[in-house]
This record gives sequence, C-alpha cells and structure tokens, in this order.
Amino acid sequence: MSLALQTFSTVKDANAALQVSGTLYLGGGTLVIRAANEGDVSVSNLIRVTEPSLSAISVSNGKARLGASVTMAAIARQPELAPLAPAARAVGGPAIRNMATVGGNLFAPAPYGDFAVALLALDASVATEDGETPMEAFLAGRDAGRAIVTAVEFSLPRAESFRFLKVSRVKPKGISVLSIAALLQRTADGTVTSARIALGCMADRPMRAKAAEKALLGHKLTAEEIAPALSAASDGIAPITDPIASAWYRGQVLPVHLGRLLLS
Ligand SMILES: Cc1cc2nc3c(=O)[nH]c(=O)nc-3n(C[C@H](O)[C@H](O)[C@H](O)COP(=O)(O)OP(=O)(O)OC[C@H]3O[C@@H](n4cnc5c(N)ncnc54)[C@H](O)[C@@H]3O)c2cc1C
Repeated sequence: MSLALQTFSTVKDANAALQVSGTLYLGGGTLVIRAANEGDVSVSNLIRVTEPSLSAISVSNGKARLGASVTMAAIARQPELAPLAPAARAVGGPAIRNMATVGGNLFAPAPYGDFAVALLALDASVATEDGETPMEAFLAGRDAGRAIVTAVEFSLPRAESFRFLKVSRVKPKGISVLSIAALLQRTADGTVTSARIALGCMADRPMRAKAAEKALLGHKLTAEEIAPALSAASDGIAPITDPIASAWYRGQVLPVHLGRLLLS
C-alpha cells in the first residue's frame, strides 16, 4: 500500500487536510514511520508542516516555549534548558533524539513519553490553533483530538527544584521501566511547600502521583518524613506490562525509585 506525504507551509492548511480519514501528522516519524514499516496500513497520508515557529525555542522572563517540532537533541544542547536536559537525553539513543520531537512525545504511548512526564510535572500548557490546554487535561483527551500541537510552554524550573529519573534495564538507551519527574518548592529550612510529581509507565500515559504530592507538603525530604508519600505513590496507578517489566514489578519498584529521587 502506498503512503503519500503532503507538506504544508501553514498549520491552518495542515489542520484542514488532517481531517481526511487515513491521514496522520508526521513529527520526527520515529513511531509513525516505524509503524508503517512494520505493516500498519491504517494510515495512507502523512502531513507535515514547515512553519518556522514549530521548530523555535524561546526562553524569556523565566518562561520557555518549545515549538512542537523541536527535537530532543536540540533541547539537550540548549544551555538555557539545562534543567530539562536529563529528560531530553532519556529519550532513546542519539539517532532517535535527532528525530524525536516534543509534539510526538506528547502522543507516545507508555513505555514511551519520558519527556512528556517532565512536562506534566512542570504543569506545561499545550498549544494548538484553538488555544492552550494544561498538560494534564491535554493528556486525558489526547486520543480524541486531531489538531496539530504547535508548542508547549512552561515556567523554567530552578535546577534545584526539578528532578527527573528514568529507570531502564538496558544502559544507556533502553526504554523505561518507569520515569519520574518532580517539581518541589521548599522553604529555607527544607520544608516542602508545593509538590508536583509525574510518573511514566504507571498508566498508558503520564499521570500525576497526587496522593504522594499531598503527603509531602509540610515535610522535609528525609527518609522518615517521605515515608508516607512513598506509601501513597501507588495510589491510582495501573502500570503497563511489556517485555521489559510486568505491571506488578513496576508497581513494586515505584516507591523505591521515588524514594531515591526525593532523597537525591
Ligand atoms: C528505538 C526507539 C527507542 C525509543 N526510545 C524512547 C525513549 O526512551 N523514551 C521515549 O519517550 N520515547 C522513545 N521512543 C519513542 C519516540 O521516539 C519518542 O516518543 C518521540 O518523541 C516521538 O516523537 P516523533 O516526533 O518521532 O513522533 P512521530 O512518530 O512523528 O508521531 C507520533 C505520534 O504523535 C503524533 N504527532 C506528532 N507530532 C504531533 C504534533 N505536533 N501535533 C499532533 N500530533 C502529533 C503523530 O501523528 C503520531 O500519532 C523510541 C522510539 C524508538 C523507535
């Protein structure tokens, strides 16, 4: 079966073309083209857009805006995005990172979506032609939407307030057993005043560990004081099973790795 590729210079025209059945947006193609090569015949038309804003990175006044076509490699080499570099470098090996885009990562099913886990912890907003949607709501509705994502925007975290961890079995570029991102604000004496924790592989898409977030408030990051948060971390999870790890295993090791991240 043939696969047609159409290139548009504007997102508006591409969004219109995307409404035709059998049509899919092409980001870096690391998932879409692999699926086609493996025999997925559900897609007959691919759409791409050359609008320059999709590939732009802008950082100003503590805010970062990443065009949806920005690659993981571009993020990892941008000094102003240093707090995000570990999450960008967690995606595949160098060849994948050169192609893999921010937009594509938002749609990648678990065990993929490591960068999206970081964006969820950062409370990023996701831009389409229709406006901006908070990351959590975007993820919940991503299967229904067909609009092209144009950018993500978030407040740049201070390096000491943002933590990211990917656990894999094949180093350095294996896929995730799980990934965790945490944005923690603390007072001068180390008491947690706000916490956002996002988990990868604990559902089919990134999710928040809301009970653990709540259990951290008012506490310091010591082994004793984080214990209730670790117990609460499994609240509401439905981990995936794949050849890398079973759901049971992922659930068992989540508190261990969350504990390591919080104590690091
Ligand atoms: C060998 C290998 C290793 C990998 N390792 C990892 C890993 O460690 N961690 C990880 O997170 N991922 C991994 N991936 C998955 C994938 O490379 C990344 O998730 C990547 O970010 C997907 O982006 P893409 O641009 O290639 O997506 P594409 O393949 O182009 O698209 C994926 C999906 O997203 C949609 N899409 C893409 N961009 C947009 C947009 N702007 N608006 C609307 N829809 C859009 C497409 O229509 C498609 O449905 C791996 C993939 C491979 C093949």
